[in-house]
Amino acid sequence: MILRSRHKITGIVVFSFISVLAFFLSPGLLEKVYGGFIFPLVRVIFSILIWIPFPLIYLVLFSLLVWLALLFRGKGSVKNKALRSGALTLSLIFLFYWLWAYNYKRIPFGARFPVTLASVDSQALREELQFAAQFLLENSPGHRSYPSIKETEGMIRPWVDSVCRAYGYRTPGMIRVKALYPKGLLLRIRTAGFYFPHGGEAYIDPGLHELQVPFTMAHEMGHGFGVADEGACNFIALMALHRHPDSMMRYSGAMGYFRYVAGAYRFYFPEDYQQFRDQLPLQVQDDLNQINARLLKYPDIFPKLRDRIYDRYLKMQGIDEGLASYDRIIDMVREARRRGVW
Ligand SMILES: [Zn+2]
Repeated sequence: MILRSRHKITGIVVFSFISVLAFFLSPGLLEKVYGGFIFPLVRVIFSILIWIPFPLIYLVLFSLLVWLALLFRGKGSVKNKALRSGALTLSLIFLFYWLWAYNYKRIPFGARFPVTLASVDSQALREELQFAAQFLLENSPGHRSYPSIKETEGMIRPWVDSVCRAYGYRTPGMIRVKALYPKGLLLRIRTAGFYFPHGGEAYIDPGLHELQVPFTMAHEMGHGFGVADEGACNFIALMALHRHPDSMMRYSGAMGYFRYVAGAYRFYFPEDYQQFRDQLPLQVQDDLNQINARLLKYPDIFPKLRDRIYDRYLKMQGIDEGLASYDRIIDMVREARRRGVW
């Protein structure tokens, strides 16, 4: 029994040591080893579980609760229980890196798609708002039937896959994006979706308006294919949907982009934005109103706390811009037009 514990402790120490060592590897080497081999292998292994219809996070959380309950109800000293809990926590943190988060340390998206244009000033932002509105109108859907979350998954996966591959990500296996119930669970912490490394799959909030589902889902799929940067996942989602044959998918992408540009513009020029919005076609205004009404159904529980924690987390992972990195999509879209790859 003691021998088994010793083996376990040695295993955890060696695992932790290698995990910490990996932080100090160069992005180029991590790209080759992690991006080229380990992460694709993780994807293939998780592909075995894609048939499971419910979110794997339920199973993982349930197992953790059972483990903790058994540990604390069982025999043994408090010190021993604390040590075992600590070892489990450490293992879960390092697993988080092996299963996904070393993607933060790979060659950044900015090096795969360098943005040479200067960031938008007020004039350029106004022009971009005009462009985003025009883009939205050009992609007005020919129908108003929304596919289910499951159907959307199948419709967009090949398109996100091909955009990710174009930027040098290896994408074997299959990535699932499931609805995480109860509705509003994520929206109440200002989150539309997230990727869960310990289950190898992503989730979106089913409380989202149907028009937001394809764009949010494509963003999360980007994470699933190893893209860590938030702005890059937004850009990849838009590029994937922009090329989609279904007009509703294209409209969702255009709507996602419009809301980013509009959010940035409204922040600086709220009155001017309101005037601009009032002149949009009624159908677009109605869609924007419906999206906002749906989001208002699930108000924030901790209005500022989530932003602060997530901003701190992103900075810890080397994303200096923190939450502002989501808005990088605006510079990327302008750059794509400049390069003629739009
Ligand atoms: Zn994201």
